[in-house]
Amino acid sequence: MPIDFTFSEEQEQFRKTAREFLRKEIEPKIQYYNDAEEWPEELLKKYAAQGYMGVPFPKKYGGMGYGELEYDILMEEVGKIDPSFSTTVGAHCGLASQSLYMFGNEEQRLKYLVPLAKGEKLCAFALTEPEAGSDVPAIKTSAVKEGNHYVLNGSKQFISNGDMAGVVIVFASTDPDLGSKGLSAFIVEKDTPGFSPGKLEEKMGIKGSHTSELFFEDCEVPEENLLGQEGRGYPVALTALDAARASLSSGAVGATERAFECVVEHVRGIPPDELMQRESLLFELADMAMQIKAARYFCYHVGAQVGEYIEMIANHVKVDRSFRDRMSRNAAMVKVFATEVGALVLNRAIDIVGMDGYMENHLLGRGFNDGVIGEIYEGTNDINRLVVGMDIVARGVGEE
Ligand SMILES: Cc1cc2nc3c(=O)[nH]c(=O)nc-3n(C[C@H](O)[C@H](O)[C@H](O)COP(=O)(O)OP(=O)(O)OC[C@H]3O[C@@H](n4cnc5c(N)ncnc54)[C@H](O)[C@@H]3O)c2cc1C
Repeated sequence: MPIDFTFSEEQEQFRKTAREFLRKEIEPKIQYYNDAEEWPEELLKKYAAQGYMGVPFPKKYGGMGYGELEYDILMEEVGKIDPSFSTTVGAHCGLASQSLYMFGNEEQRLKYLVPLAKGEKLCAFALTEPEAGSDVPAIKTSAVKEGNHYVLNGSKQFISNGDMAGVVIVFASTDPDLGSKGLSAFIVEKDTPGFSPGKLEEKMGIKGSHTSELFFEDCEVPEENLLGQEGRGYPVALTALDAARASLSSGAVGATERAFECVVEHVRGIPPDELMQRESLLFELADMAMQIKAARYFCYHVGAQVGEYIEMIANHVKVDRSFRDRMSRNAAMVKVFATEVGALVLNRAIDIVGMDGYMENHLLGRGFNDGVIGEIYEGTNDINRLVVGMDIVARGVGEE
């Protein structure tokens, strides 16, 4: 297999345009929204107008017609600007809309994915419940088939974009006796009677993003809004999470690169003779640079694999079991690696910069508080380690 780590000219141009747009239109205002904990409506409109809400989807579904690699490039650049913003657009595109693209039928894609990819509506992905975080099969929200609709009852928590989304991908149990095999996925529209968002969570970071509860009380969802097959919601959820982990990791790498630039700037300001007496600082910079580079290459390697996987599923091509296992393992590995390199770099960067870096309004202080979530959502890092460890035991070390 040829290994080529260079981006095409078109990809380089895509990155340049995205970076310039984000630095000019989003960065100057994003801190206001984080400080005020206000929804960045104006910024999301501008972002959507660029087509960025639908980067990886075909044009016929309202997207830009690019693939996962371009989406990862975009998320790396968004991560450099603001992890709240990357959470909002990542939950919308990489997780929720991607589920629709992979598992939606033609009618569902045309009805729902088109406005989502164009950014006319926002999407959320509602899996987590009070008693079902890592333990997804413990989902209690029920969906009972009555005539030509399903009646949903239950609640969700910690849902990114939950209160702002026009469309929510909801996971519910259609057969509680079957555990994970009794889960199904549904497309629920915001105005469906019986569906309502609850309170917003008060978070330690990513304050410019919204995280909310959702409630379903005798909420009637038409049967045509079943996403995939009844009883196949668990694979929908796991596949969507596998797919989203590459872009989440690219966002984490972007945020880490920004923090690294900041600490490098600081070290450059240290007089040379003083720096020579603190040469361990140079070792630390070298270690950080190596870790970030490894994480970045790993992200794009997995991104390419994930992109292939997404297209196979979306185009109903049979996925070879060993390819799927390899992809799941790599997606879990890169998620852990990229977010933990981020934590390590942020931690050391604050130590090196000292008390200024610890301040809440400093890029590093904010980056630290914003970065922690990467180790929790889309599967905690320990759950991802479980995925990796189990696959290593099952398949061996393997060629990746
Ligand atoms: C800001 C934010 C945004 C979020 N956005 C979304 C969203 O958009 N959609 C959504 O569905 N969810 C979302 N979540 C939920 C998130 O995915 C969950 O918090 C996460 O899956 C962990 O679940 P939990 O919090 O219930 O922790 P738990 O599952 O209770 O885990 C607690 C600890 O126990 C460990 N643990 C649990 N089980 C095991 C095990 N079997 N083996 C080893 N260790 C284990 C975990 O690793 C963790 O360290 C969000 C959460 C936050 C905080």
